Amino acid sequence: MLLYNTLTKGIERFVPIKKGHVGMYCCGPTVYDFAHIGNLRTYICEDLLKRTLKYDGYEVTHVMNITDVGHLTSDADTGLDKIEKSAEEQKKSAWEISKMYTDFFLQDIKKLNIESPTILCKATDNINEMIILVKRLEEKGFTYRIDDGIYYDTSKFKDYGKLAGMSFDELNKSLKAGARVEFNPQKRNITDFALWKFSPKDKKRQMEWPSPWGVGFPGWHIECSAMSMKYLGEHFDIHCGGVDHIPIHHTNEIAQSEGATGKKFVNYWFHVEFLLVNGRKMSKSLKNFYTLRDLEKMGFDPLSFRLMVIDSHYRDKIDFTLEKLKKYEKTLNDIDISIKTMDILPLKEEKRDDLRAIEKSFKKAINDDLDTHSALIELFKVIGIINSHIKKYSISKENRDKIHELIKKMNSVFGVLQDYSIPEEVLDLAKRRASARERKDWKESDELRRKIKESGFDIIDVKDAYVIVKHRNFGETNGKSIDIGHNTDKE
Ligand code: AMP
Ligand code: ZN
Repeated sequence: MLLYNTLTKGIERFVPIKKGHVGMYCCGPTVYDFAHIGNLRTYICEDLLKRTLKYDGYEVTHVMNITDVGHLTSDADTGLDKIEKSAEEQKKSAWEISKMYTDFFLQDIKKLNIESPTILCKATDNINEMIILVKRLEEKGFTYRIDDGIYYDTSKFKDYGKLAGMSFDELNKSLKAGARVEFNPQKRNITDFALWKFSPKDKKRQMEWPSPWGVGFPGWHIECSAMSMKYLGEHFDIHCGGVDHIPIHHTNEIAQSEGATGKKFVNYWFHVEFLLVNGRKMSKSLKNFYTLRDLEKMGFDPLSFRLMVIDSHYRDKIDFTLEKLKKYEKTLNDIDISIKTMDILPLKEEKRDDLRAIEKSFKKAINDDLDTHSALIELFKVIGIINSHIKKYSISKENRDKIHELIKKMNSVFGVLQDYSIPEEVLDLAKRRASARERKDWKESDELRRKIKESGFDIIDVKDAYVIVKHRNFGETNGKSIDIGHNTDKE
């Protein structure tokens, strides 16, 4: 597989540390609120990477963390803990907040057909590992103490900033220029960051732990270094996240892990570009976001969003609009109808379809730095072949089986086509409709179609037969669209 590596800024051939096995770490959500679909884009692309590696025959150990403490509202180690802030606003405990949004996150990824990580680890379950790591850094002379915590002296780490392709000075300058808040004047360098923060003297935090330095809580970056090395070893294959993690979070993870171990941390760094709205990053602070629930309330199938993500390269930005999403939902529906129609075609001997070139091009595309857009074109070619069978209204059993087999392989990577069963009562309504049509009782037939739709399915007439597919609304539920940035779930 060819893969772009942020560390070397080039496309490289992927070679695992251990033959046949891949260790992959993905920075997970901070569970203080719903994930927006920009966040979810990143997790879908990571899932596509994992599924491609599995398609290629690797066994993948996929670790994802849940940040349930320590992520502050400002990247400059000031401000409030996002979870404790949300707890205060919603009059719940910090533990309730993190549990609630972790559950919502897991529901979202399931709806998007993102495979569950092999290991899902919570920061609050790994505090001891973090303390041990900070101690190692302390012993090696990377840390210093100021009023509010223990900090990492980034000037002591050789090549700090290599992931961002910047020198130490350049990175310091760029952070200063982009800063929205004042930096703590006690910090030796702007890029220095908290490893352990002390609880405030005048207020008890809900989440705090004793440590050799005083009661407090871990910094956000140390969480990922500690948990990734715990589960994948001190040197592992792939580390993933959104592009915004390059200059700070991942740069700091490298400084911590390599500072402590003295050896290379990660071989390949995989970063996903942003989902934009009107040219700007979708984000909570700009209030230009939709959650997956917003899309569902507007009547969209979550998998239409997955299809939209698959259709662009993970290193390209996506400009999100509801109009575009409608088109993807229509495509998804058309694919579904074609496949289901193929299954009811009369069987007839015919010449064999040649699918080998399509499979080869598909495999080449996904292995070419995850070119899922080109890989999807190969799926559309298969749908084109199906449609030509539908046109002549026959197919051989062999061709049908081979097409199913190929679609199954492609979908093991795309994860966008879903098996769903059709309830007995819907099948029954469909049968009654067919006999009403035979009697030319159009009124009864329309009424039964309406009932089928009410049960969440559509019936499509094909010559003298019919197929039943899941009903999709194309974003037309109640004819209402939800204002962007308006988080309906909070009401
Ligand atoms: P957070 O919960 O803020 O740590 O973000 C979770 C993941 O989503 C991180 O890997 C971010 O880099 C990523 N992310 C945040 N905003 C966007 C966006 N607009 N498009 C794509 N990925 C994003
Ligand atoms: Zn992380």
